[in-house]
Order: sequence, then structure tokens, then C-alpha cells
Amino acid sequence: MATTTPAKLGRISRTHYASQLTREDIGFEVVVAGWIEDFRDIGKLGFIMLRDVTGLVQTVLKGEILLKARNIPRQSNVMIAGKVQETKAKNFAVELSVNEITILSEASLTLPIDPTGRVESNLDTRLDSRALDLRNPKVLDIFVLRSGILRIIRDFFSENNFIEVNTPKIIGSASEGGSNLFSFDYFRRKGYLAQSPQLYKEQLVLSLDRVFEIAPYFRAENSHTLRHLNEFYSVDMEAAYLDYTAVMDLVEDLVKRLIVFTKESKRVNVKNPILEPKTFEDLTQKQFPRIRYEDCINELQNLGEEVEFGQDLSDASLKKLGEKFSNFFFIVDWPLDLKPFYIHEKEDDPKMSKSFDLQFGYLELVSGGTRQHDVTKLKSRLELQGLSHESFKDHLRVFEWGMPPHSGCGLGLDRLMMVLSGVNNIRETVLYPRDTTRISP
Ligand code: ATP
Ligand code: MG
Repeated sequence: MATTTPAKLGRISRTHYASQLTREDIGFEVVVAGWIEDFRDIGKLGFIMLRDVTGLVQTVLKGEILLKARNIPRQSNVMIAGKVQETKAKNFAVELSVNEITILSEASLTLPIDPTGRVESNLDTRLDSRALDLRNPKVLDIFVLRSGILRIIRDFFSENNFIEVNTPKIIGSASEGGSNLFSFDYFRRKGYLAQSPQLYKEQLVLSLDRVFEIAPYFRAENSHTLRHLNEFYSVDMEAAYLDYTAVMDLVEDLVKRLIVFTKESKRVNVKNPILEPKTFEDLTQKQFPRIRYEDCINELQNLGEEVEFGQDLSDASLKKLGEKFSNFFFIVDWPLDLKPFYIHEKEDDPKMSKSFDLQFGYLELVSGGTRQHDVTKLKSRLELQGLSHESFKDHLRVFEWGMPPHSGCGLGLDRLMMVLSGVNNIRETVLYPRDTTRISP
């Protein structure tokens, strides 16, 4: 008989999660704990559908216990002791004949949302009651998947000799010179929330060779889209002695591994096109296309878009490209002017850069590139972008201590989760999203 680490609670303790009960347990006494999803009463018999984090179990009640159960509101938390028996129900392997039911915590009779999902609520209402919303298995699955994805990401980087780091999120000067920083009073000085770990992770390759960090970015941008939040998670990496094409190889390997994991996890409830057999096979077997920025511009012009070489790709252009190259593709070798000061130029064409974005259709998932490690060039790039050496002095001095050539990227975790779980709003993939109108709960 399968057992779990017992969840002890007074006299009785949980022996099983709902999903662990199998026909092998028939005849044994077990204890499960969870919330009442449904109660069906047919007079002499009653059925409680008890859900826990792993799944659903059908329990059968009669006599005194049934009388007691009639008064327990749905969604209340209970512990049920019973004997495992054969069942006639199609959806279950076994059922429990209840010997004892302990009410652990009663739910109120009127709840803000229906976590079974039968009565649908809009996303805003669900987010207002997120803790309860997570009792809906469709919602829960996204976060169980996310947890697994984080585990695979950590394994992947550690197999590739990356050291996990944690850099500060409270910083004293604008990390990338951008204007979209949250600022606040920090003991009579100005403090900022880090918009990325870019500068720290570059500094760390001086000694740590390869680093990665999984951490929040904070951006004070006034976006109202389905793919922007003001706090989001990024998987950042930086590696000495690699160039941007090697970083693309790593990103591609990682994403493929995550797609395979997602398929195996069976945690995706919606019809997700990337998991359809043919697409899945293509995505995991073939190389992601790598299209030069210049070719994207030509392509867009052929499609009748009014776009010139040297311009950033607008949402409309990305949508067009996304229709042409569906699923994952890289856009490589952007004009240097479009990229931040720390990106390296192409030696054979210095107006262009060693950079890439990974797209999923119109959705940008990753930005990366080879970094400039020559401090003189770095300084002139800062000047060109109107940034002062003074505010980057702590950073620049590190480049005088023997900085190896290096490359890296930042991958938007929440956006990747949109793709893997097949949802179109980033808010579905974040427990407590922060956007321009939402700062609580
Ligand atoms: P975009 O052009 O889509 O606003 P970006 O180029 O400003 O993105 P980067 O600075 O390159 O973003 O950040 C690295 C990655 O973080 C992006 O490729 C994307 O996956 C993710 N990301 C960026 N901004 C946001 C945001 N506001 N909300 C969620 N994820 C984001
Ligand atoms: Mg980007």
C-alpha cells in the first residue's frame, strides 16, 4: 500500500493524497484530506467529492455520517477516514467508504468565485480571489507546471556548469540607463528597483565563468497588453568564452527540453497547438529558424509593410512575421543602434550587432547577445547613448580587471509559460500579477 509522509493532525493523520489511491489499496483503511468539491445526496447514500492538490476522490457516506455531512458547506476543509472499496463510478479507480469525517475549517456559504469553474468568472474577479481560484485544477495545473519548469531550468544550467546567483534588486543607479525604473526613498537617497540583473551578471563572469539567475525584473512602463507586467520573472544567463550563437544553441536546447517536459507533465488542460503531435515533433527535432534582421525587413517590405532598414520592429511588424514564421524563430544580427550599450558590434560589419531575439510568433521571449568587453569601446557606446561614465563607474572599473569575452541573454519566464501552457494572457501564468491597475492582492 502506497504511503506518504503523514500529515499529522491530532488523533488522525493523512495517509494518502487523492491521486495515490489505487485498486491495490482495496480493503485498507486510509485517511485523505482536502476540500469538498461536491456533495451528492440520494437519500440513503451521499457522495462527497473530495479534492486535494493532486486530484479527486469519491467518498460514500451513510447513516450518522451522512446526516453530519449534509450541514458542511462546499469548499470546507475536511479529513476523511475510510475503507477503500470497488466503485461503479466510471471516472474513479476506487472509492472510499467513510468511517469518520472531521471538519477542519468551514468555508462560508457565499464564496466570491466558483473554484470548480462551472460558474465562470472573469479574470479580474478570479485574481481578486486568487487563493481560491487555484482550487480550480485548470488554474492549479499552470503553477504546478511552472514549478516543474523551474526545476528543469535549474538542472539544465547546472549540467552546463552554470552557477546560480542572486543579485540585488534594490540598486543605487539606473542599470541600463532606461527611464522605466521604479524609484523610492532609500534613507535620504534615491533607490531604484532593478529593471534587470544585466550589469551584475556581466561583472560576475569575471570570476564565476558562467552564471544564471531566476529573479524578478521591475519595469515602470505604462503598458496595457496581454504580454507586459510591471513585475515579471526572467531567467538570465551570462557565460564567459561563448559567443551569441552558442547562447542561442543553449536557449534552443533548453526550450526544447521544456517543451518535452510540458508534454510529459500532462498539466496542460487547454488545446495547445505546440503539443499537437506533428508540431511537437517538428519543434523538438528541427532547428529553430534563425533569420537575420535584414531578411526580416526584406520579408516585411515584400508583404507590403512600411518599414525601413534601421527601424525597430513594431507590434504590427512582429505580428506579420509571426504569421509567416509561426512558432519559435530567432531574429539575429540587429542594427547596433537599436541595441543597448553593452551589445557587441559585428567585426565584419560594425553597424550591426551580435544579438538575437527568440520569438514565438509575435511574442518576444528572449533577448541576448555577445557583450562588449573592451572598456574603451564600452565607454564610447555609453557616450553615444547619452549616458554618463560617472553613473556607470562601479561597472566600468570591473572591465579593467581582466574581463573575459562573454555573451548572455534574458528569457521572460512568464511569457514562456504562456506558450507552454497555451494561454494568451500573461496574467494567467503569474500568481499575483502586477500591472498598471493592479497592486493587490
Ligand atoms: P518588449 O519589447 O516585448 O517590451 P523588451 O525587449 O523590452 O520586451 P527585454 O529587456 O529584452 O524586453 O527583456 C528580456 C525578456 O523579458 C523579453 O524578451 C521578454 O520575454 C521579457 N519581458 C520584457 N518586458 C516584459 C514585461 N513588461 N512583462 C513580461 N515580460 C517581459
Ligand atoms: Mg528585448
